[in-house]
Amino acid sequence: PVRVRFCPSPTGNPHVGLVRTALFNWAFARHHQGTLVFRIEDTDAARDSEESYNQLLDAMRWLGFDWDEGPEVGGPHAPYRQSQRMDIYQDVAQKLLDGGYAYHCYCTAEELDERREAARKAGKPSGYDGKCRTVTPEQKAAYEAEGRTSIVRFRMPDEATTFTDLVRGEITVQAENVTDYGILRANGAPLYTLVNPVDDALMEITHVLRGEDLLSSTPRQIALYKALIELGIAQRIPAFGHLPYVMGEGNKKLSKRDPQSSLNLYRERGFLPEGLLNYLSLLGWSFSEDQDLFTIDEMVAKFEIEDVNANPARFDLKKCEAINADHIRMLDVKDFTERCAPWLRAPFAPWDEADFDQAVFDAIAPHAQSRLKVLSEITDNVDFLFLKEPVFDEASWTKAMGKGDPVALLTTARAKLETADWSSPESLKEAVLAAGEEHGLKLGKAQAPVRVAVTGRTVGLPLFESLEILGKERTLARVDAALK
Ligand code: GLU
Repeated sequence: PVRVRFCPSPTGNPHVGLVRTALFNWAFARHHQGTLVFRIEDTDAARDSEESYNQLLDAMRWLGFDWDEGPEVGGPHAPYRQSQRMDIYQDVAQKLLDGGYAYHCYCTAEELDERREAARKAGKPSGYDGKCRTVTPEQKAAYEAEGRTSIVRFRMPDEATTFTDLVRGEITVQAENVTDYGILRANGAPLYTLVNPVDDALMEITHVLRGEDLLSSTPRQIALYKALIELGIAQRIPAFGHLPYVMGEGNKKLSKRDPQSSLNLYRERGFLPEGLLNYLSLLGWSFSEDQDLFTIDEMVAKFEIEDVNANPARFDLKKCEAINADHIRMLDVKDFTERCAPWLRAPFAPWDEADFDQAVFDAIAPHAQSRLKVLSEITDNVDFLFLKEPVFDEASWTKAMGKGDPVALLTTARAKLETADWSSPESLKEAVLAAGEEHGLKLGKAQAPVRVAVTGRTVGLPLFESLEILGKERTLARVDAALK
């Protein structure tokens, strides 16, 4: 049975790279009817925070991910927060020491730096040189008498490591490029290098799908697994698949600190979780040659890790927005109006709450639905209905009123709108069309001043539907106000 894990560290805000990793693991688990384990890697007390932890959980829920084992749901390998599993790591580290798979290293940071520098100058690999591999009990006592502290290092085997990456194919790393590495700090605190594979082993993870940045730790982890298997702690070495980097602006790796990578930003702008997930799934994977738009269920049905591409993927905000717009259009209109709700209130909405009218909003909603890229755009599109007076920006005003004789046109249009049949947008359109004809203007030119007078903007939702929903009285009053 497939068992995969999503194991972020609760530092900072959730970001796009993390969501993509979660998505691929989740889709892989669901595709194979496997188990998704959600584990929190919070062993770095200096960087981890409870706030980040809560944000992570909130993000996972917002995205619609579920997990079979982990925080809140529990499971047979609980606890799923590494900060609550410290005894386990101490125990495993001791077994590794006792079995000779790891050793105490007394080298100081300065000594390590010096030797690393010397190796670099000599053109040799600059990893740990193995000096403390063979410390005798006498030396050990002497070091301790000197007041030196020790870290625990894992002893790497002297042969090359070869493994088949599910995304990249066969990878071989020479022994000289992966040297003995620390697993416990001098104060006894376990490091990522130990806790991550130990938990993967204990939680019986079968597939490790994670970012390319972790590719270099894989040979170390494979060696550790072999030791854990010999000690009877691990059953098997999982398969590894490293997901490609995501590139941002200027073809630079999208970093956690890049504003474009913050998940909160997408939430605040009103991306739909399904739209965002659809786009993120295209970062390294494709649905089919000619189809970029799909539902999450369709993705799950097709998702195979072997189809993930090893080449870096480019994050294209325009495309992300276009796909989101398609998902907005796919909602049923009731769902759409409900999802708009947060943007129809303070702090987003500029109107008085008392002036908001749900029935009016429901009437305009279908016209807005087909035009939004992100839900936050709803506010500007409908504000003319709920504000006492439209907000004019000077530029729109001059743009629409600047040429020709807008006063004459608006006067004629007002008269024709006065006698039009307000029960259909067609009749309102006829009125403005006829006014335009009297002044030698096509519909597009004739409706521009009307739109600005009534909505305050040069672009917006279909005008005649907007006028009908705003109503005769308010529309004429706004034209009158513009004519003053
Ligand atoms: N906690 C690690 C991270 O956030 C997980 C790495 C892994 O998937 O092995 O990068």
